[in-house]
Amino acid sequence: MATIWENINLPPREKLKGVEVADCTVIGGGLAGIMIAAELERRGFGVVVLEADRVLSGATRGTTAKLTAQHGLIYSKLSQKISPMTARLYYDSNREGVEKIRRLVRERDIDCDFSDISTAVYGRDDDSAISREMRTLEMLRIEGEMIHPRDLPFEVKGAVEMKNQAQFHPLKFAGALSKNLKIYEKSPVVSLEDGKVTTPKGVVRTNYIICATHYPFLNIPGFYFLRQHQYRSYALALGTDKKPERAYLGIDDNLSIRSFDRGIIVGGMGHRTGYNQKGGCYMNLLATAKRYYPKAEVITCWSNQDVITHDGLPFIGRYSVFSPRMFVATGFNKWGMSLSAVASNIVPDLICGCENKYEKLYSPFRTHLKAAAVPFFEDAAHAVVGISRGMFSKREERCTHLGAKLQLNRDDGTLECPCHGSQFSCGGKVEFSPAVRDVREKK
Ligand SMILES: Cc1cc2nc3c(=O)[nH]c(=O)nc-3n(C[C@H](O)[C@H](O)[C@H](O)COP(=O)(O)OP(=O)(O)OC[C@H]3O[C@@H](n4cnc5c(N)ncnc54)[C@H](O)[C@@H]3O)c2cc1C
Repeated sequence: MATIWENINLPPREKLKGVEVADCTVIGGGLAGIMIAAELERRGFGVVVLEADRVLSGATRGTTAKLTAQHGLIYSKLSQKISPMTARLYYDSNREGVEKIRRLVRERDIDCDFSDISTAVYGRDDDSAISREMRTLEMLRIEGEMIHPRDLPFEVKGAVEMKNQAQFHPLKFAGALSKNLKIYEKSPVVSLEDGKVTTPKGVVRTNYIICATHYPFLNIPGFYFLRQHQYRSYALALGTDKKPERAYLGIDDNLSIRSFDRGIIVGGMGHRTGYNQKGGCYMNLLATAKRYYPKAEVITCWSNQDVITHDGLPFIGRYSVFSPRMFVATGFNKWGMSLSAVASNIVPDLICGCENKYEKLYSPFRTHLKAAAVPFFEDAAHAVVGISRGMFSKREERCTHLGAKLQLNRDDGTLECPCHGSQFSCGGKVEFSPAVRDVREKK
């Protein structure tokens, strides 16, 4: 379904045909790919972007676009499971990410409904997790404040506010950045090797490859399919005057609420991708929203998914030890706005041989056993079950990534892989990677 952002017309780009030469090839025209490509071009590289479908037609078109360094309860989680130093670095990098987008909007005079706002996480049933997050912010000397908001239509026990954050129109922003980039659309990359990227009708010979496809489709090397899964959530745009002054995230009801010019966007009712055979997510979200905003009209609704890593940190850096000229940006854990900006500093720095103080934090080679062990085994169990079921299924019911049995998402009428989260239209067309091949259509 159409998202609230799809009210802009980006001019179509040609398909890649024949042989092209570039210093850097960015695969994937989402926010991460566009920001990385724009930064590389600013630094003087010749850049080509290859997009499987249309630019900004992936997860970025379905985001709620809160641009913030406040990512749920991330600071208490990282401090506890990894270290306070990790949490502080995560904050610094995301704060810089928010500032980078703010600066680009100002310097390039991008009309993208950018507004400076505060963000807040709230607890409705219990404020112990909220208080813990506040104590962690104090310990890490990160600016935050305990508040009792009055701009929400329900009572909360407590909330932590972070000032000087923002919200914007992601497609207007990224669309403006993409304007002068050399982009080929309808050009899915089907294979990669050192210095060569291949699409069905063309080839790019290149020094550096950047994989910004949301979920990497190349399994070996890198083994990203063992390290992350996908999570789908639902969103409703409602026409109302009752707009909150901040953008919110509830830690117990898991609702996300922000304003936009015509009203509010309410998000929630998420599930691991591949686990919505019964449906009802839109209905439940609508019922919840109507309880709090009874007079609001539904403008549109949509769903979207993001990539979840085991330790809560994205993978930004060299793709693998065996591919020093190939880079990756994935696993944004539902916070890809600021993190795309972070990636757009780290990847170009690595290519230029410049030091970047966040390189180790986001390195795809890191190991955080304490944080990652349990989610690793959970993901492995999902993969074993899904792939085993796939062995006894018909070909058109199997995911083209690793053969797991696809499941119907009854709300969207799509087919989803419960292992790694590839999504296909009901006709079998790939809509979300890691799959690259369509499922053969039923006769
Ligand atoms: C419901 C929801 C709400 C969210 N709200 C927020 C928020 O408020 N704030 C925030 O910071 N984050 C939010 N996020 C997360 C954010 O939307 C994502 O992290 C971000 O958009 C990911 O951008 P991307 O560029 O990595 O991926 P994408 O936008 O998906 O871009 C990847 C592109 O790669 C292309 N591609 C894939 N395979 C190939 C191939 N083989 N060849 C060529 N191209 C290929 C795809 O077509 C796609 O266009 C939210 C996520 C969800 C699910």
